[in-house]
Amino acid sequence: MPHPRPEDSRLEPIAEKIAAGERLTFEDGVTLYRSNDLLFIGYLAHRVRERLHGRQTYFNVNRHINPTNVCVASCKLCAFGRSRNAPGAYTLALEEAFQKAGEGWTEAVTEFHIVGGLHPDLPFQYYVDLLRGLKERFPAVHLKAFTAVEIAYYSHITRLPIREVLERLKEAGLGSLPGGGAEIFAPAVRRVICDHKIGAYTWLKVHRTAHELGLHSNATMLYGHIESAEDRVDHLCQLRQLQDQTRGFLAFIPLAFHPANTALGTKVPWRETTGFTDLKNVAISRLMLDNFPHIKAYWIMMTSRVAQVALRFGADDLDGTVVEEKIYHDAGATTPQAMTRQQIVRLIREAGCEPVERDTLYRPVIRTATTLAVQV
Ligand code: SF4
Repeated sequence: MPHPRPEDSRLEPIAEKIAAGERLTFEDGVTLYRSNDLLFIGYLAHRVRERLHGRQTYFNVNRHINPTNVCVASCKLCAFGRSRNAPGAYTLALEEAFQKAGEGWTEAVTEFHIVGGLHPDLPFQYYVDLLRGLKERFPAVHLKAFTAVEIAYYSHITRLPIREVLERLKEAGLGSLPGGGAEIFAPAVRRVICDHKIGAYTWLKVHRTAHELGLHSNATMLYGHIESAEDRVDHLCQLRQLQDQTRGFLAFIPLAFHPANTALGTKVPWRETTGFTDLKNVAISRLMLDNFPHIKAYWIMMTSRVAQVALRFGADDLDGTVVEEKIYHDAGATTPQAMTRQQIVRLIREAGCEPVERDTLYRPVIRTATTLAVQV
């Protein structure tokens, strides 16, 4: 099918490659980031999205659980982590965590998304018991838990290899890993925004090991701070390379930096990312990550309005109902902390797409009249 001509003629060869199903190069990625022809980039990304998924647009009914915000890392990009005695620091006792999970639970919830800080005192057994206890109480709920940063930290405090940490957590009920903590892989950027955090090598190693153990995972990229176009493309290429080897990633989630209440945000007059930048990142990730099944428009971060438009710029997933998001709200996000199933379905339908409720592994969830009646 002939495509419309781009305003930016540099995009013409890229459009030819997309039409032929060819992989884009690092240089192509940088060209896309340097172009302001957003509508054409979005058009290309939408073609790829339609080729993969048609109009199907995924969401799930999930609940977030953040067991602790106490963290030894002090990343400058973070508004969530606190030192042990800082105001607002908290750590849930196991029973409190189970109770919290139960508060947001209905028969409709298919996933608990569990991430937290790197606590200086909690033993690894706490996390094992947390998963085991949740699995006992909510056996049908998938446990997507602990970023690569947390897994590497457990390996550090126990002196166990990453593989063994993952095996023990899997045995306790771990179903998959979320994609957080990747930030931007470029070491020079990491030194400024999160110098105490694991580097790209360890982040990728955790995900590679998880994939080898049969666990799926997601991947993220934090943009909109000090990174360059080259840094973003390098990040995407490193993810694409690992995915070529393991095929274990399910979704990629571009995350906009929210500067409020972060050490990075107070240093210089940061501005939040714009809708233009958010849509460009969604579209370019769809075009570069040709081996990732799904690109997620995380509405918590980009607002439900921009996320809805992103469904026409390469995204095929709106994430979930969420229920009590904390990490982005500590960083000043003004979006609601939850959406109902009905609100998500409306966003998808009004974008001309077909809503598909999924579980964490992207299997369609079939609802009966009874379970529909209790959905959040
Ligand atoms: S980003 Fe994660 S590791 Fe870094 S300070 Fe925040 S909670 Fe801790």
